[in-house]
Amino acid sequence: MDDADRVVRLQEQQEQQRLQHRQQRPAAPSRSHCAECGDQIPAPRRQAIQGVQLCISCQEWSERHASK
Ligand SMILES: [Zn+2]
Repeated sequence: MDDADRVVRLQEQQEQQRLQHRQQRPAAPSRSHCAECGDQIPAPRRQAIQGVQLCISCQEWSERHASK
């Protein structure tokens, strides 16, 4: 197995995990990546906040600007 095969296999596994995760919690799916900047959202944050859409820095940024 060469590196390209390994990458494809890994992507398939991650896609399957994503689909399974989505089926378990269809009501409020947390994003794996920030809706604003596209950064990956850490798993602990996704688990702590159901339906989280933003990474920590974008969340703080939007809260700062919303309060003005
Ligand atoms: Zn972000």
